[in-house]
Amino acid sequence: MIRPEVIEKLDCPSVGLATSWTIVQRGFRNVPLNNLEAARTFFDRKYWPFPKRKIAQSNSKAAGLREQGNAAYKKDPNDPGKALELYNQSICMAQDGSKDLGLGYANRSAVYFNCKQYRECLQNIALARCHNYPAEMMPKLLQREARCKQLLMMEVDDGESETAGTTGHCAIKSCLELCQDGKGICTNRSLDVGEKVLVEKPFVLVLEAEFAYERCDYCGESNAHNLLPCRDCTAVMYCSEECREQSLQRYHQFECEIVDDLQLLFRGPKATRMFHVILRLFWHAVLLFLEDTEGFLRRIETPAELEKYRDPFTLEPSDYVLHLNATCVETYADAAPETGKCVAQIMAILMYVIAVEENTSLWPRLEGKQGKTKLLDLLYRLIQHMGRLVNEDVEHVTCFFPFASLLQCSDSPNAEQLLQNLQSVVVLKCPIAEGEKITIVKKIHNTVNLTGYQIIQHNTVDVDEIGNGLGDRSFPNTARIP
Ligand SMILES: [Zn+2]
Ligand SMILES: [Zn+2]
Repeated sequence: MIRPEVIEKLDCPSVGLATSWTIVQRGFRNVPLNNLEAARTFFDRKYWPFPKRKIAQSNSKAAGLREQGNAAYKKDPNDPGKALELYNQSICMAQDGSKDLGLGYANRSAVYFNCKQYRECLQNIALARCHNYPAEMMPKLLQREARCKQLLMMEVDDGESETAGTTGHCAIKSCLELCQDGKGICTNRSLDVGEKVLVEKPFVLVLEAEFAYERCDYCGESNAHNLLPCRDCTAVMYCSEECREQSLQRYHQFECEIVDDLQLLFRGPKATRMFHVILRLFWHAVLLFLEDTEGFLRRIETPAELEKYRDPFTLEPSDYVLHLNATCVETYADAAPETGKCVAQIMAILMYVIAVEENTSLWPRLEGKQGKTKLLDLLYRLIQHMGRLVNEDVEHVTCFFPFASLLQCSDSPNAEQLLQNLQSVVVLKCPIAEGEKITIVKKIHNTVNLTGYQIIQHNTVDVDEIGNGLGDRSFPNTARIP
């Protein structure tokens, strides 16, 4: 078996482990991995060499990061990006109720004051004031606040209004509907060239790690100005109370406890974040399972119920995952185990063990409930379909657009998908007739297509060669089998 110290050093330890493990089992021991349950019994947690951990908040570390921020700002006051990132890290590291939290916000306010961004400055002063900013330093802060208000009064009101919050995540032309065969989207009336038919924000997104202290973990907006930290972990920030609350409800309630484990699990090139997007979709199923276990099991299995969820146009967003359950069927249906299938299984199992079974904020809520294995099965099927579901073309984020992901591809597409500012916009390139399918160009995936691993199916000797063989689609530094 591949040595733990080798896995630890891989750029992408999870897929490296899954691939190597699969090859060893299939190649040398010829273990039949015909189904997920069999794979589950063969796979052991000890193969994943990272102990469970959570980086605890620490006021002394927060103070250290704040000082580093001060030094960075002093060094280069004209480019406050680095200082702001360090202040944001400090804010995440500070314990709720500590003066360090207030000090972090206050330092951020000073940066904005000097950049003449007075509104942002005032917002940070307000945050500092309600987060234990030390009384003895308050006069200085109040002075800055008064000066800020004065300067704002002098600014000409440019009539610019704040953009509205996140109301709804998509806008769809009312004539669009699911095609009769359940594959793709068509229109029930003719449409003209140039019409925008589908505008979506990501239903779920995952940021690249280097933007954790610059962008909102929920909506992805670049908003270094006023990011708020999670109250319990040190790894994520939000652009607003609303995003913090939404994220908590939809997935961070499960991820907070394991946020540092997830960073290791999804460490690697951008394609690895597709697995994290899948996990965030999977949490929606966990929520439904916890809410009404029997109802959930009935809805994901009974044929008549499955039928109800085939058409996402009729569903509430919280039920999209049931649509995915109804449409993401096992693709490796035949009995012969393929390497791609085994890798998908091991990834599903590894994610389930780390994110569910070892997750102390979730596992006690699941214990004693029948039918948990259905969750693992769903996770596995979502992973099999992730190449179709997940969009990784947006810069710095990986996301899921529920409706755009339904569009069929064609060599002569009649529409174009544009990605602008975290939005997917589908525009018609030519007029289309009533009943016609809307098609887009085939995506050139830079992604991890698990079937790609079939290329190495019989290569049991030197796994290092995988990287070269698969070009862009591969994960670098896949392990060598000892
Ligand atoms: Zn946000
Ligand atoms: Zn958290």
